Amino acid sequence: MRTELLAPAGDLDRLKTAVIYGADAVYFGGKQFSLRARASNFSLDDIKEAVEFAHSYGKRVYVTVNIIPHNSDFNGLEEYLRKLEEFNVDAIICASQAICDLCKRVAPKLEVHISTQQTTLNSYAMAYWTSKKVDRIVLGREVTYEELQEIMQIAEIPVEVFIHGGMCANFSGRCTISNVLTNRDANRGGCAQSCRWNYHLYHGDDLLDKDEYLFSLGSKDMSTPDYIERLLKVNVASLKIEGRMKTAYYIASILKGYRLLIDSYYENGKVSEEDLKKADYYLSLAANRDTFNGFYPGVPDEKGQLYNFITTASQSFIANVRSYDAETSEAIIEVRNHFEVNDELVIMNPNGDDVRFTVKEMFDEKNEPVEVANKPMQLLRIKVPVAVNEYTFIHK
Ligand code: SF4
Repeated sequence: MRTELLAPAGDLDRLKTAVIYGADAVYFGGKQFSLRARASNFSLDDIKEAVEFAHSYGKRVYVTVNIIPHNSDFNGLEEYLRKLEEFNVDAIICASQAICDLCKRVAPKLEVHISTQQTTLNSYAMAYWTSKKVDRIVLGREVTYEELQEIMQIAEIPVEVFIHGGMCANFSGRCTISNVLTNRDANRGGCAQSCRWNYHLYHGDDLLDKDEYLFSLGSKDMSTPDYIERLLKVNVASLKIEGRMKTAYYIASILKGYRLLIDSYYENGKVSEEDLKKADYYLSLAANRDTFNGFYPGVPDEKGQLYNFITTASQSFIANVRSYDAETSEAIIEVRNHFEVNDELVIMNPNGDDVRFTVKEMFDEKNEPVEVANKPMQLLRIKVPVAVNEYTFIHK
């Protein structure tokens, strides 16, 4: 069976973007029982719509139920799990053995995936979860490729691994720096990213160290295009992108990059240098921090840490399409970054190569000609060379 590409979704719009831009499966959290409580999580109505939309494209839907639960968190949980089953959600992702057992009992049609919050990094933990008859293990981001190869030799159930996104300076899900310093619970989605702050070190009244980052600025982000061939070769079930808080443009660009690599591997039996170059281009569109290969090459040294504020935020995202008129070949676009008449823009095509075109003219909502687009969120009408839809992105 082909390895799936699994994308995050912070809301319905981002879920639809992920489905259109090539995810095989999407995951998100409900309003309750999930980490990332601050993301605009899905209501029950949203979950129903999300499943119907994804399934209409043949894509799967996983709902995170991955809190580290206190007693009170079990109030209403049975009913919630039954609802997810009724809506035909494909799986829940949970970190708690108790929730895993409860789900198997009250909503047996739901698959149970063991969350990365369990930090499964070895064959022994793998064997343990297999004995619990769970349906999938999401390994910890801290697993090395060598360890993964050993785990895959004994794996009797599907294995999911991370390929892209933010890393914790700590083991994922085992950090309370944010809880201690800000009273915001990292295991309930409230992490204030305290490991990325600038700290001064005192001994009594003596300032020992100034303008230094005691924890550095946290970890670089994970990005692993050059590991995709190796991950596909060991037959992992799923390649997961982190980032339920990320924008739709981020999701589309990252999916384009990894989709290209995975499809090329299945078509040609390998990932070529040319494929990697193309994928790097898409991954760079959405990059906002320096990146590294995570733990795959081995436990990272200081090169895996950020020590300065240099970011690589890109201004390449120009606009997203709001609507398209096939008769006139005109699109209404929402401006995100500066561009002008006679600039060359690129339509990020969800199903193939990007399409370049030059903006000949554009008009505002009063039908007045506009020479320079420099008002974020302004709606403009332009001619485009191919059919687009409301999920299409335009960039430079
Ligand atoms: S404070 Fe840093 S290490 Fe801790 S959970 Fe948040 S991002 Fe992870």
